[in-house]
Amino acid sequence: MTDDPVEIAMQNLLGALDVASGDLPVDDPSTGEIIARVRAYGLDEISQIIGGADDARHAWAARTAKERGAILIKWFNLVMAHQSELAHLVTAECGKPLTEAMVEVSYGAAFIEWFAEEGKRAYGETIPSFAVGKRVLTIKQPVGTCAAITPWNFPIAMVTRKVAPALAAGCSIVLKPAEATPLSALALEKLAIEAGVPKEVFKIIPVIDPAPVGELFCSDERIRKLSFTGSTPVGKILMRQAAKNVTKVSLELGGNAPFIVFDDADIDAAVEGSIASKFRNAGQTCVCANRFLIQEGVAEEFTEKLTARIDGLKVAPGLEQGAEIGPLINDAGHSKVSTLVESAIAAGAVARLGGRSSDRGGNFYEPTVLAGVTRDMDIANAEIFGPVAPIMTFADEKEAIRIANDTPFGLAAYFYARDLGRVWRVMEALEYGMIGINDGIVSSEVAPFGGIKQSGLGREGSKHGLDEYMELKYALIGGIS
Ligand code: ADP
Repeated sequence: MTDDPVEIAMQNLLGALDVASGDLPVDDPSTGEIIARVRAYGLDEISQIIGGADDARHAWAARTAKERGAILIKWFNLVMAHQSELAHLVTAECGKPLTEAMVEVSYGAAFIEWFAEEGKRAYGETIPSFAVGKRVLTIKQPVGTCAAITPWNFPIAMVTRKVAPALAAGCSIVLKPAEATPLSALALEKLAIEAGVPKEVFKIIPVIDPAPVGELFCSDERIRKLSFTGSTPVGKILMRQAAKNVTKVSLELGGNAPFIVFDDADIDAAVEGSIASKFRNAGQTCVCANRFLIQEGVAEEFTEKLTARIDGLKVAPGLEQGAEIGPLINDAGHSKVSTLVESAIAAGAVARLGGRSSDRGGNFYEPTVLAGVTRDMDIANAEIFGPVAPIMTFADEKEAIRIANDTPFGLAAYFYARDLGRVWRVMEALEYGMIGINDGIVSSEVAPFGGIKQSGLGREGSKHGLDEYMELKYALIGGIS
């Protein structure tokens, strides 16, 4: 018997699976210790799994949307009943504080509940006809067998955001989780099967080497749709590979989110919004504020208040009481952040707080505020993925918009302002898929999540998220007169 909550969660949620002697090691980013060894799948096995999913999809699609929805609601209830255990798995494999992991589980579960309901509303339409004796209509049908590839920073929510709409639409789906975080995904799969999802219809396939699996997904004609969340370079590879069979793709890729504070803003609210936007998951989210653009007249006040607010955030392993900033995911993530900060300081930026690794050692990094950042610095252009707030200044609205849009990315942008005209102008001018106005968090299952430009294609969540897994079929009926 053990009293370690992570081991208990593994026993309860993954018990029968081979997570002790598989060949994919999973480590705890807080300590580097290996916490599980998951069974990894080979390409031949995956091909067979795709075959099983493709056979099973017809019977799944033939059920009513209501029946599928009822199974999804059971899955939602099971996920929420196991919220704490799932959160322990998330923290153990991805490092985020347990309080954040708890929120992630309920956020992830919300997609299941949402699409259980939304699946029943996949309406077609009748269109006023263009000719006498003819009728024009559309129906929506499941796209077929789908594949998905997910990242490590939201090991629950990125899975449910793809799997729930696919299942609700009547598709089957094979999902490759990130190598760092297979445990949460496997636990979700187990709960889905317990809820009544046929096991061939939803399959998690951890692997050791992702590249050949991406290639397989794109070259197997049974896969009709690939949904990917991850980096822009990998998204581009997959998009190229998907050209072979014209496989449909949804891509949720990198961002370079500006966080703009105008001189009419409520500065205290902007500081709170910055904490939510920048320091969640130690800055490791694709919608994280990446560049702070502060109007000259309020720059010092904002910088001082932000620094005071961040000073003292508790840097600690995610399971430690009161932890607010967990470790970065791995050595590579840590050295990327260090290098960006060091080169910004060498080029003239000033660390008002942090600017170095944490005394906790390992992959922990101090929450950092960098003032005097300029647009030519790497830190103003690269996706930082760490708890670092680089601050730049601007003179007026036009300049803020120009700097904000001067990037190939277009995922999320945030701004704080109170003048109503400015709010509209800036919202319309920002070339981003999601805009947070006087708020630092935009994500919700009810709203469309996705980017423009090189941040991706398609939307997840909301009613639009279901369409990504459906084909629109047009039928013309003649001979009616
Ligand atoms: P990150 O830098 O956040 O790990 P990646 O884009 O490398 O972002 O990883 C996101 C997901 O993409 C992970 O599941 C990873 O295994 C997968 N992945 C990485 N490289 C490839 C590839 N060449 N083809 C398909 N999937 C890939």
